[in-house]
Amino acid sequence: MTQYVYFFGGGKADGNKDMKDLLGGKGAGLAEMTNAGLPVPPGFTVTTAACNLFVSRGGSLPREVDEEIEKNAGRLETLMGKRLGDGTDPLLVSVRSGAKFSMPGMMDTILNLGLNDRSVNGLKDKTGNGRFAKDSYRRFIQMYGNVVLGIDKDRFEHELSAVKKARKAKADVDLDEKALDDVIERYKGVVKKETGKPFPQDPREQLGGARDAVFRSWTNPRAVTYRKLNDIPHDLGTAVNVQSMVFGNMGDSSATGVGFTRNPSTGAKEFYGEFLQNAQGEDVVAGIRTPRPIAELQTVMPKAYAQLRDITTRLERHYKDVQDFEFTIQDNTLYMLQTRNGKRTGVAAVHIAVDLVDEGILKPAEAVGKVDPQSLDQLLHPIFDPVARGKAEIAAKGLPASPGAATGAVVFTADDAVAWSQKGKRVVLVRMETVPDDIHGMSVAQGILTATGGMTSHAAVVGRQMGKPSVVGCGALDIDAKAKSLAVAGKRLKEGDSISIDGSTGEVILKELPTSPSEVLQVVAGTLKADRSPLYKKFERLLGWADEVRRLGVRANADIPRDAKVAFAFGARGIGLCRTEHMFFAEDRLPYVVKMILSAARGQRGLDVTRRLKERIADAKGEHAAALRKELAKAQKEYGKAIADYTGALARLLPMQRADFAGLFEEMRGTPVTIRTLDPPLHEFLPKREELMVRIATLTAKGEKRNAREIKRLSSLLRGVEELHEFNPMLGHRGCRLGITYPEITRMQARAIFEAARNVSKKGIAVKPEIMIPLVGHVNELVAQKKLVLETAAEVLGKGSGVEYLVGTMIEVPRGALTADEVAKEADFFSFGTNDLTQMGFGLSRDDAGRFLTQYLEQGLLEKDPFVSLDASGVGQLVEIGVRKGRAAKPGLKIGVCGEHGGDPASIRFFHGAGLDYVSCSPYRVPIARLAAAQAQLEKPSGD
Ligand code: PEP
Ligand code: MG
Repeated sequence: MTQYVYFFGGGKADGNKDMKDLLGGKGAGLAEMTNAGLPVPPGFTVTTAACNLFVSRGGSLPREVDEEIEKNAGRLETLMGKRLGDGTDPLLVSVRSGAKFSMPGMMDTILNLGLNDRSVNGLKDKTGNGRFAKDSYRRFIQMYGNVVLGIDKDRFEHELSAVKKARKAKADVDLDEKALDDVIERYKGVVKKETGKPFPQDPREQLGGARDAVFRSWTNPRAVTYRKLNDIPHDLGTAVNVQSMVFGNMGDSSATGVGFTRNPSTGAKEFYGEFLQNAQGEDVVAGIRTPRPIAELQTVMPKAYAQLRDITTRLERHYKDVQDFEFTIQDNTLYMLQTRNGKRTGVAAVHIAVDLVDEGILKPAEAVGKVDPQSLDQLLHPIFDPVARGKAEIAAKGLPASPGAATGAVVFTADDAVAWSQKGKRVVLVRMETVPDDIHGMSVAQGILTATGGMTSHAAVVGRQMGKPSVVGCGALDIDAKAKSLAVAGKRLKEGDSISIDGSTGEVILKELPTSPSEVLQVVAGTLKADRSPLYKKFERLLGWADEVRRLGVRANADIPRDAKVAFAFGARGIGLCRTEHMFFAEDRLPYVVKMILSAARGQRGLDVTRRLKERIADAKGEHAAALRKELAKAQKEYGKAIADYTGALARLLPMQRADFAGLFEEMRGTPVTIRTLDPPLHEFLPKREELMVRIATLTAKGEKRNAREIKRLSSLLRGVEELHEFNPMLGHRGCRLGITYPEITRMQARAIFEAARNVSKKGIAVKPEIMIPLVGHVNELVAQKKLVLETAAEVLGKGSGVEYLVGTMIEVPRGALTADEVAKEADFFSFGTNDLTQMGFGLSRDDAGRFLTQYLEQGLLEKDPFVSLDASGVGQLVEIGVRKGRAAKPGLKIGVCGEHGGDPASIRFFHGAGLDYVSCSPYRVPIARLAAAQAQLEKPSGD
């Protein structure tokens, strides 16, 4: 029989740390700590499988699960020697969500469950503290009313304020027991009015309601958004943890807090966290009271502090990772409520992984597995220009919650953040405190600034996770969100005014500051010495270990020497794709490109006609030859200008391309450089039809005579644009189809490549050109293009040049993948173009899918955008077939991928499994790919 409930308590637990799928992170941690003999309040975990059942049954659980929960509730009562709802010494429990991956603040929590009109007196008698008992009860009604019964929080806040006003009390703590009795009665009135029923007094009913609310919260909109932003699958479900309560709010010998075994923001090895005396856990995370640094706990409660340090250090060694823990001290006795691997910034992750190796806790290969590849992106974030920064006046200082420099216009709500950024503005979101509902605004903001809350407040946790520079708890800000303004340091800022925040120091500056590249980028760019950047050194060590582990090669997609240089510095060993057309867009080239395009059809035809006539003339005699010569003269007259334009433009482009390729070869220092022949539809290089029509109309209106020359030029351009018009350009005249109709273009490009290779090689620099033919769907296309390339190679290199080269193809048309055995016979290598393969395999236009794909993602029809992360089960099959058939025809065939997916960790895992030799991605993703490739090998080792 499936077990849906796992008990922990009395030194023993049903579960353990490896059961996160079923028990969630929190449940697995509680079980593990219980088994390790740590002081954990007993309880039980209802599994994620029960949550999935609940969701699939439309909000109910089968009877046997209910019975299992009841059995465990009874077991908990027996172990604790207390009963829920008891009138003399009641058991109280907390009910909390806990998914496999933590989702801070996204789902619901209920504390003090088990209190009712009877047991509240039991609690009072047992603790001798009537105020405490009544305050616990009113908090419970409020939380239960809101979370389970769906009553607006304001309804309760309104009653609380009324009582405070009547009693002239400033804060909640100023209310005495009698006042709280009044609050409780009013709260019960609210529940009765809103639900038509009295507040439930039966603890079993309370427990069922709370459990269902937690399960329901798995599908609430903010949790769904959070999962989307963090790539957490929707079908994992959450577990529910029911745990006996301990109280941090039983006076000054009690406290509650959260912490990390190392600084999660910088990675520094320091005991890190915060606590509140005489408070419940929610007060710390909610960011309503600003907590005290954990170091001060040593003075306040030295014994509990020492025990906490000892336990958490042991936990870090046990889990071999930074621990993020929650604790409560009830009357000087310490209880551990949670431990889990701590979330951290990318910077902290690198420091911590390398430090743990140096401390002998991890082996290098294990450290490679501890850093989320995606988080390396954060190390490549800009920092403020140091000179401008040095001069800037610091208006205020908050807590440095998430590093990085952010600058932009102030906005005060998440919706405004979205609206402004849609208009192309950079914004900094300023809030009293953020709540999970703000997540859409946080995700588009450059940075986040809050007035209250600590380092573990919502803004801090989520900011770190998103890699957004964040400053929190900046008490000097006087925010008026309604008026959309804030006052600080004697100045007033309104919406849209400039602000800068430094997430590494907590400083706030009231103007826009220039930013400069990250420390790692500066080392890479050569403006900072590696020795002066401990972060860079650790980054390099970690990636060095990754390189030792990984099987997949990592190359970069780079088109110009500057990008190639960055790519090489980031560890790319080869270029997997140079899109030659990108060079065509340069200002000095575009006029020749346009000329080449507009003359290509006639020019190529002229060349073909005249070449054929010349061949025939060579074989002809007498009158026949004379007639042919006449014909040739006529053709030359007819096509002369087009041929001159066409070959002339190609001749101008040749040296430019040659210089670009030479630069690439030099920067890549003998590693392979894959250069692709021209690919996109030609009209992409021309102005838009409508734009030309408007320009012609405007000039005509201004004076047709005066502007006659320009009008003529534009009209001829317009004719060219109209001739090139295609209904489906992405499936039209592009890729190798261009080279087949206009072979002179392929010849020119091949010549530029081989001449560059020969010239660079003469300088003593090794070169490895790989010429790649795009969009091959039939082997004959490759045969035709390869012939041109080989002929050109023979002309340029002759014999004995020492330059070795390969001619291969992209596999990006489904037919190319399906006939990979035939194609492989003609190809020295394959490179999967997964952008086009996704477009054509899925039948999704790359240019238009954006309009409806978001709906697919929102409605859960697709889990991820298939252009970002490879659709493994569909398009992935085309890749697998291509690999299998290709290697069957040509064993050991070199195969890579150069679509965007080459830099996506999940896709890299797939390519590793599919047996590819390398991935190629944008230069800035090279570090991510190196690490992801190593993790893929650790997860699924495969031979060389
Ligand atoms: C591809 O299709 O995956 C590819 C790399 O080529 P492009 O994006 O230039 O079409
Ligand atoms: Mg393509």
